[in-house]
Amino acid sequence: MDDYDVIVIGAGNAGLTAAATLQRGGARTLLVERHNVPGGCGTSFVRGRFEFETALHQLSGIGREGQPNSLRGLFTELGVADRLEFVEEHDLYRAVVPGALDVTLPADWTGAAEALEAAFPGNLERLKRFFGLCREVAMWQVMAQRSGGERVRRALTKRGEALLSQGLRPVTAVLDEYFDDDRVKTALGAYWYYLGQPPSRLPFQELATLLYTYVEFKPFHVRGGSQAMSSAVLDAFLAAGGQVRFHTAVERIMTRDGAVRGVRLVGGEELSTREVVSNASAVTTYTRLLDRSAVPDTVRRDLSSRRIGVSAFVLHMGLDATPAELGFGTSTHFVNATLDEAAVIDGLRSLRPAQSICATAYDVHPIGFAPAGASHVSLMTLQYADVWEKVAPAGYARTKYAYAETLIDLLEKVTPGLRDVIEEVDVATPLTVMRYLGHPGGAIYGFDQDATESWLFRDDESTTHVPGLHLAGAWAGVGGFQPTLEAGARVARNLLRRNAA
Ligand SMILES: Cc1cc2nc3c(=O)[nH]c(=O)nc-3n(C[C@H](O)[C@H](O)[C@H](O)COP(=O)(O)OP(=O)(O)OC[C@H]3O[C@@H](n4cnc5c(N)ncnc54)[C@H](O)[C@@H]3O)c2cc1C
Repeated sequence: MDDYDVIVIGAGNAGLTAAATLQRGGARTLLVERHNVPGGCGTSFVRGRFEFETALHQLSGIGREGQPNSLRGLFTELGVADRLEFVEEHDLYRAVVPGALDVTLPADWTGAAEALEAAFPGNLERLKRFFGLCREVAMWQVMAQRSGGERVRRALTKRGEALLSQGLRPVTAVLDEYFDDDRVKTALGAYWYYLGQPPSRLPFQELATLLYTYVEFKPFHVRGGSQAMSSAVLDAFLAAGGQVRFHTAVERIMTRDGAVRGVRLVGGEELSTREVVSNASAVTTYTRLLDRSAVPDTVRRDLSSRRIGVSAFVLHMGLDATPAELGFGTSTHFVNATLDEAAVIDGLRSLRPAQSICATAYDVHPIGFAPAGASHVSLMTLQYADVWEKVAPAGYARTKYAYAETLIDLLEKVTPGLRDVIEEVDVATPLTVMRYLGHPGGAIYGFDQDATESWLFRDDESTTHVPGLHLAGAWAGVGGFQPTLEAGARVARNLLRRNAA
């Protein structure tokens, strides 16, 4: 008998939900994680009297109790929904370009349209039509992705015209058709930050679906941060009899006659299994963990055609002031230095002063990370890792802190005096993300999510060309919390179903 029915490599979101679903479904499962805590990106750490959320800005997929969405359903299925306290945010975000734009969009279609109309009169009818298009495109995309199959395809070609004609167009092209005012377009496109591609490169269907999800099912925070979710899912796995090894990396997926036969851990220990779920990146799985001879040429060719996605530069700040004292009336802020997207794109690959930031004030609706009278604010700009790989080691610390100052400079245009109340600050570059996750480029959403990565052009990537190997996570689909948590459970259910047949 094999040592385990399934071995899951990596305890990120997808690794955790895969392991918990497998073990609860009766498969003897081992979860192996190189770090010392569960969660991958979904974790937190402590500095001084503050706990800092590492990654989660706004959680989608929860929905209110009376109108639950799919992720709340998954937590219920895993038996952990009652352990988690979800904190609803009432706004989508505040979008700011100093001197040009400052508008807060509530998380409802009418409220968002009215807020934009109040700031930039004369757009109400266009806004209603644009939001109508977002709803239509999103509903078709969700339906087609979830159900698939011939029936949906037929319905899509008959009635899904909006998705077929608009879905793959760049966000910028659709916005240009509806609006003349660049300020309105910048405000409406702000969520590109959660998808990693600027509006001129982002397929409209992705933005439409994100807006739809947050408006219809609301954005949430979690008390105790993403670590609370990661720990709860791990506990569900352990309670079902699963085994976990932290501080343990898999160095090889062993194969025989082309099929999975086990894993070798760093240190040499070998464990037998016929099924491996890898939550490590697809690049790492295929090029580091498998023997070259086990990877089909088609996979190698496909990998070489894809682009490593964007990473993040983040300041985790503990501030000795309340959100109200700092002037934060809402949690999520997207601040651009300019309306010019070319400058923002340039910022993704340069160390010139940051051109765009996402600032999250976690204590507007407290999640329990800052002591009374203080607040936890994170400040993130998206960046590719290559710019940091070129910095000489001797100049790394100096460069990192100098660049961090430019993010604070931009936020100070919205929140004057913020610098004076910084009590703790921890700075992470794309190299930090790379080191903690082991992903190429420290990419936070997997491959660059442009139109070529669309689900329309890619088969389900969780099933690989190597019998017994399954991929789960941002690199085998879409990045982000909801997609990866749900993907892990989906991969596990498919595997259980197939082995039961
Ligand atoms: C700064 C930042 C901000 C973000 N903001 C948001 C946001 O607001 N909203 C949102 O939805 N998403 C956000 N994301 C993205 C989101 O967190 C990720 O896309 C998602 O968590 C990835 O989950 P995953 O399942 O792919 O696993 P990952 O989190 O990538 O974890 C993979 C795990 O595998 C482990 N591993 C790798 N190789 C091995 C090996 N050989 N042996 C053992 N273990 C191994 C790693 O240590 C890691 O724990 C953010 C991410 C970051 C870093």
